[in-house]
Amino acid sequence: MQRISVVGSGTMGNGIAHTLAQYGFEVALIDINAAALTKALATIAHNLDRQINKEAITSADKERILARITTHTVLADGVRQADLVVEAATEHEGTKLAIFGDLDRLCPHHTILASNTSSISITKIAAETQRPDRVIGMHFMNPVPVMELVEVIKGYTTSADTTAKVLALSKQLDKTPVEVNDYPGFVSNRILMPLINEAIYALYENVADAEAIDTVMKLGMAHPMGPLQLADFIGLDVCLAIMRVLHDGFGNPKYAPCPLLVNMVTAGKLGRKSGQGFYTY
Ligand code: NAD
Repeated sequence: MQRISVVGSGTMGNGIAHTLAQYGFEVALIDINAAALTKALATIAHNLDRQINKEAITSADKERILARITTHTVLADGVRQADLVVEAATEHEGTKLAIFGDLDRLCPHHTILASNTSSISITKIAAETQRPDRVIGMHFMNPVPVMELVEVIKGYTTSADTTAKVLALSKQLDKTPVEVNDYPGFVSNRILMPLINEAIYALYENVADAEAIDTVMKLGMAHPMGPLQLADFIGLDVCLAIMRVLHDGFGNPKYAPCPLLVNMVTAGKLGRKSGQGFYTY
């Protein structure tokens, strides 16, 4: 693999592009929103400066890394030569199905199509294409340049060859890939999101305030971040979307999203990215 396209340049897309370029890949970063691309490049430059300050890379490395990233607002312009596409667009099923249908038409036959989705079925995404054996989940964690895990999700139709290639690439990026099968929430969010949802219920039922809930989990369970702080960091809209996938996918009321989470998202309080969530930023 040499040329990798990243679709969506938000929180995750810019981190994935940064990491791939740092490890020598030619990266085409694509977003329908030109302002998001500008912001992504600024974020990548800022994060590279932090790496320079920690003496992890040099200024010359920074220039080389940035030079490997091109940006595009038209999907066709960024994917025609891709060996791999990592889709990191908005967590919305219709959006992802449309993107994969387009990618299947536009990309060369050999291109592997990966999704960074937190919860949407890889099997369903694969069924939208004529290459379901070459569709896979590549679930990076936030912040991508720092976090070691890649959850590699095998759809029902994903081939062993595709899985092997994505596992090898993840190791090449100095990440630790973990293979999982395609069921709602995979492993990471099947366990994490009900924990976050329960913390929101504890706040909703006034068991304790946000800071107290987070302190219990940080000091009592040795979590590096409390669940409410983590929810703000992930984005409350993303948390709600994942709870809905678990609820629909398993049909079990234990996955019902807390009404407080629903209200906060409806009111536009999305956590860190909107300046207000369980905390003020
Ligand atoms: P985000 O809202 O920060 O960014 C999404 C970007 O996708 C936006 O810039 C938007 O303009 C762009 N986009 C929307 N439709 C598009 C299209 N048709 N073509 C090209 N670009 C399009 O979202 P995010 O937090 O970066 O999440 C992206 C994906 O990564 C989601 O599937 C999410 O579930 C997953 N994810 C998020 C986290 C996290 O902590 N935020 C962690 C792991 C995985």
